[in-house]
Amino acid sequence: MFEKILIANRGEIALRVIRAAREMGIKSVAVHSTADADAMHVRMADESVCIGPASSTNSYLNKAAIISACEITGAQAVHPGYGFLSENAAFAQALEDHGITFIGPSAEHIRIMGDKITAKETAAALGIPVVPGSAGGVADFETAIGTAAAIGFPVIIKATAGGGGRGMKVARNAEELEVAFRTARSEAKAAFGNDEVYIEKYLQKPRHIEIQVFGDGKGRAVHLGERDCSLQRRHQKVFEEAPGPAITPKMRSEIGTICAEAVAKINYIGAGTVEFLYEDGKFYFIEMNTRLQVEHPVTEAIFGVDLVREQIRVAAGLPMSFEQSDLEINGHAIEVRINAEKLPNFAPCPGKVRVFHAPGGLGVRMDSALYGGYSIPPYYDSLIGKLIVHGRDRPEALARLKRALGELIIDGIDTSVPLFHMLLAEPDIQNGDYNIHWLEKWLAAQFAE
Ligand code: ADP
Repeated sequence: MFEKILIANRGEIALRVIRAAREMGIKSVAVHSTADADAMHVRMADESVCIGPASSTNSYLNKAAIISACEITGAQAVHPGYGFLSENAAFAQALEDHGITFIGPSAEHIRIMGDKITAKETAAALGIPVVPGSAGGVADFETAIGTAAAIGFPVIIKATAGGGGRGMKVARNAEELEVAFRTARSEAKAAFGNDEVYIEKYLQKPRHIEIQVFGDGKGRAVHLGERDCSLQRRHQKVFEEAPGPAITPKMRSEIGTICAEAVAKINYIGAGTVEFLYEDGKFYFIEMNTRLQVEHPVTEAIFGVDLVREQIRVAAGLPMSFEQSDLEINGHAIEVRINAEKLPNFAPCPGKVRVFHAPGGLGVRMDSALYGGYSIPPYYDSLIGKLIVHGRDRPEALARLKRALGELIIDGIDTSVPLFHMLLAEPDIQNGDYNIHWLEKWLAAQFAE
C-alpha cells in the first residue's frame, strides 16, 4: 500500500480523499494556490505545497508543479478528485512516466471516453445502448440535415470535446439546424479548441440515470446501481438520489450487468460512471465519466461502501473488497449541492462565511470545506458543500433532508439552500415525478416577473 498520496484538488473533494487516506493509515499531501493558503484541505492534510497563483490554469491545472510537489514530498500516488485534471489523459500519462501512480483509470481509457464520439462508438461496440444519431462527427450542413432527416427532429448538436453541460444546441427544424450547427461549431472551437460536433436525437422528457461501475483492472468489475440526476439547471446537476424512483430492480440488474460486463471487458480500473438518458423504459448512453463523481456519496450511503478507499486499493494493486453478490441496496439516499449562489439568477456570490454550522444526526453527512471565518475565493467553482441524507426509504430520506437543511447555518453569503426548501414542498419532488426539464420549467414559473 502507498505510504503517502497527493491530492490534486481543493474544497470538499480534497477533504473527502484525505479522510479515506487517513483511515487507511496513508499520509496525505495537499496542494494549493496562493488564494487557498487558508483553505481547509491545507489545514487537514499532513503536508501541503503551494503550486502557483490563484488562477487554476497556473495552479490546480499545472501538471509540472503537481509532479514536482510529488517529488519534493515523496508522494507515491495522486488522487485527482473530480474536475481539474481528473479526466486529463496527458496528466495520467505524465505521472506514469515519472513513476507516480494515478489513482484512476489508464490514460488510454480516459482518452477514449474523453472524446464523446469515440466514447459512444466504444460503448456501442461493448453492447451498451446509445442515443440514435450521426455516425461519428458531422463536418458539413448537408450531412447534418441528412442525419436529422434520418432520426427525426428535434435533434441536439453536441461538441465531441464538450463537458460540464457546455457546447450543446437543440434544433427543432431545418432552419434552426442551420443556425445551431454553425454556432455549435464556433462555440466548440472557442471553448474546447476543437470544432468537431455530432448530432443526436433530442429526447423530450428523459430522466438522467447514471450507473456506477467499478473495476479492478484485471477483468473483474461490478456495478453499484444507479443515481437519478435529472434535476438539472443548465445541464448541471443540483439534486441527486439513489436508487432512482423510476427504476425497478429488474431494470437495474439488466443495465447494471451490461455496464459491468462492458468495463470488465476492457480491464477498466477504478470508479467510473456510465451516463444514460432514460425514457419510456429504455436506456440511451450519452457519456462515460472516468473518475469519481460529485454525487458518489448517495451510492456510498445505500451500499455502505467507501468508493475512495476502493479507488486507492485497486490503484495499489489490491483486489476490490467486494463482489457483485455482496452489493445490496439498503434504503434511500439524496444529495443536494450547495452553491455560493444568489437566487433567482444563481449569480455566484463568494465572500466571507461568518458562521458555519453543519447539520448532524442519524443518516446525515455534510461534505464541505467551509468553516466559520473562511473567505470563499472568487476563482473557483461555486460548490461549497454537499448535504447527503440516508433513510430506510424515500419518504424518510426526504423528511431527513428537510430536517437537516433546517439545521444548516451558512451565515454571511447567499447560497442555494432556499431552493431546496422550496423544492421539498413540491408534490412532484415528493413523488419522484420529474425529468431533465422539470427544474428549468419550474424555475421559469417560480421566478417569472
Ligand atoms: P456534459 O458532458 O457536458 O455534461 P452530457 O452529454 O453528459 O454533457 O449531457 C448533459 C445533459 O444534457 C444531460 O444530462 C441531459 O440533460 C442533456 N442532454 C444530453 N444529450 C441529450 C439528448 N440527446 N436529448 C436530450 N437531452 C440531452
